[in-house]
Amino acid sequence: MAPTAPANADTILEIKDLKTYFFLEKSTVRAVDGVNLTLPRKSTLGLVGESGCGKSVMSMSIMRLIQSPPGKIVGGQINLHRKGTSEVIDIAKLDPRGAEMRRIRGGEIAIVFQEPMMSLNPLFKIGDQIAEVVQVHQKLNKKDALDRALQMLSKVQISAPKQRLNEYPHQLSGGMRQRVMIALALSCNPSILIADEPTTALDVTVQSQILDLMNELQSDVDASIIIITHNLGVVSQMADHVAVMYLGKVVEFAETRELFHQPKHPYTVGLLNSVPVLGRKGKQHLEPIKGMVPLPTDVIPGCAFAPRCPHAMKICREKQPTLQTISPGHTTACWLYEDA
Ligand code: SF4
Repeated sequence: MAPTAPANADTILEIKDLKTYFFLEKSTVRAVDGVNLTLPRKSTLGLVGESGCGKSVMSMSIMRLIQSPPGKIVGGQINLHRKGTSEVIDIAKLDPRGAEMRRIRGGEIAIVFQEPMMSLNPLFKIGDQIAEVVQVHQKLNKKDALDRALQMLSKVQISAPKQRLNEYPHQLSGGMRQRVMIALALSCNPSILIADEPTTALDVTVQSQILDLMNELQSDVDASIIIITHNLGVVSQMADHVAVMYLGKVVEFAETRELFHQPKHPYTVGLLNSVPVLGRKGKQHLEPIKGMVPLPTDVIPGCAFAPRCPHAMKICREKQPTLQTISPGHTTACWLYEDA
């Protein structure tokens, strides 16, 4: 499979032919199956697709948080180009519990989950939780770490930040907890922030505030962002590039504007036709994609989207399409665009 963009001096993360499988008693789930992606510095990549397409397994693979057994990275590389040095480290080869990975996790790559309570400890005060992370990664004393916690809470524009330091997670609203998570994630100046459905659990107005905040902070903290979502509206608001995933593979990759205006893969077209898109002219006729994402254990010989695709041809059911370049920076895996 061709890479979605070549790595260069501006690259912060390069994922090459990544394969993460889950070995069940009677079958194997190929949750991520040969993904190639490059993330340039200070850019935002949107990873989109329906539930079960492998987006979250991608983020857990990058963080080396895949539960093993049954999960395992069985192939490929996750090359982190370290900020300020020429060092490149393949995260996929590290011991997930080793010291190097613990340094990277939280220090160089941080994650914000959909549900903040997955990461916040209900028994500890907000200030202590941020300070602890800062102490571990930045070797500050408790007082300086608490000062940093206060600074970060102010940065994420939480109301009464000083008071929040001494509060427990249950005393905050969902939106405030997500702001705390962002403060926590950014407190050690990571090179990469992974946001896994960061606004899905929030109501619409708060969603938009959190996305605005992340956009503002990105330029401030000099981090690249991978935003994982099923919501194309979130992607259009945040991402420079979009990778559309279907059943463990990237089926289309392009600049956000290009993807929204010139979608090529029938799955991307289906996703765009099933949600209202801001800025699109005329009356929008919404149509859901027919059928369901196949079970991850299903073995589909040709294109995995064929059972749902309105353009499926004989070859689609026999042979897998590979990523083809449609125009500079725009690739798709679909027989409709293969030269042959
Ligand atoms: Fe549809 Fe065939 Fe393209 Fe798959 S390869 S998306 S089935 S046209």
